[in-house]
Amino acid sequence: MDIYAELGVRTIINAVGPATRLGGLSLSDEVIEAMRAAGARNVRMDELEEAAGAEIAALLGAPAAYVTSGAAAALSLATAVCLAGDRPAAIDVLPEVAGPRRRAVIQRAHRDPYDHALTAVGAELVEIGYPGSTRPDELVRELDGRAALVLWRPGRGGDHLGIAEVCELAHAAGVPVLVDAAMDVPPLQRLRDILDAGADLVAISAGKGFRGPHTAGILCGQADLVGAVALHHQDMDIRPRTWQRSEVTGADPVRGRHGIGRGMKVGREQIVGLLVALRAFVRDPGAHHRHGAQELADIRAGLHDDPRCTVRDGYEHHLDVPVLEIDVTASGRSADEVIRDLDRGTPRIHLGEDRAWQGVLTVNPQGLQPGDGAAFAKRFAEVLGG
Ligand SMILES: *Cc1c(COP(=O)(O)O)cnc(C)c1O
Repeated sequence: MDIYAELGVRTIINAVGPATRLGGLSLSDEVIEAMRAAGARNVRMDELEEAAGAEIAALLGAPAAYVTSGAAAALSLATAVCLAGDRPAAIDVLPEVAGPRRRAVIQRAHRDPYDHALTAVGAELVEIGYPGSTRPDELVRELDGRAALVLWRPGRGGDHLGIAEVCELAHAAGVPVLVDAAMDVPPLQRLRDILDAGADLVAISAGKGFRGPHTAGILCGQADLVGAVALHHQDMDIRPRTWQRSEVTGADPVRGRHGIGRGMKVGREQIVGLLVALRAFVRDPGAHHRHGAQELADIRAGLHDDPRCTVRDGYEHHLDVPVLEIDVTASGRSADEVIRDLDRGTPRIHLGEDRAWQGVLTVNPQGLQPGDGAAFAKRFAEVLGG
């Protein structure tokens, strides 16, 4: 049975990479089988989170880890912890903040549409610096009794404050630092560098480089902060009289009511799928770079002699993958027209549009399946003809 054909929803050759609008990357058979097995039986979700979190932390080399429904949810839950900690009275009233510390300080150059994840749970964003540069005193002056956290993002160009400097200044004022590394881990070394620099909490996507379920993510970092996440996230439809200590950690069963993260629930299938995907990644990190390499070679070969486009090797720094850049200026067609035609035609193709304004389209190999490269090159040549 082809459920997509049955529904009349056309499938896509994904040359974008791990994009949520296309449903993320496809899962390996190993991960799908683990998710199937996990979905067949019930467990206590707090115990599953504790056990999986401990192994994930060990695999990542982080002090502690917690599985969320994505990196955006990890940012929200981390913010909730920075605003309300493990205090039931404060957890209960979010997004109203019980206390003076409600601000998330962020360098202007680090702003991103994902900042909604912070404001949604009650934080107020305070921008410092300018697009081209940020100075230490601009951070220091906001680290007063109203600061709940500093948000930092990797890989933003410009003369801005690095993670080590931010951590040093923030910690001197008793303010934790949250890093949005959704798109930047793997490689694992980047996470280790961020943690070594002193970051307290780090949000990571499961569905990007790790090829876990696309509806999963990880919040890792300091054990006390990560430990408080469960209070904001887990279903609290329990009776304190009967809900006993965790058999995994012996953790105290005393709990409040549903926190603000209850709507960001994560399934046992996602938790187990992520764990199995991460084990596979750690077993063979090189697979990350081999995936789709043949398809990129096929696209290159297929378009090599076409005078209407120029194909160059590129590199996507955040995701740590080689990509192809296809310049279509010589075809006389605009990049936007090419994108629209690729979407309407058969096979239906989506590819990277970040540099469409320069007449350049990007092919990311992470979502390509065997045979996609040849099909892509054939259809792309047709579309260039108009
Ligand atoms: C992808 C991404 C997110 C969200 O990650 P999800 O796992 O899809 O929730 C957050 N921040 C940045 C910078 C991202 O690239």
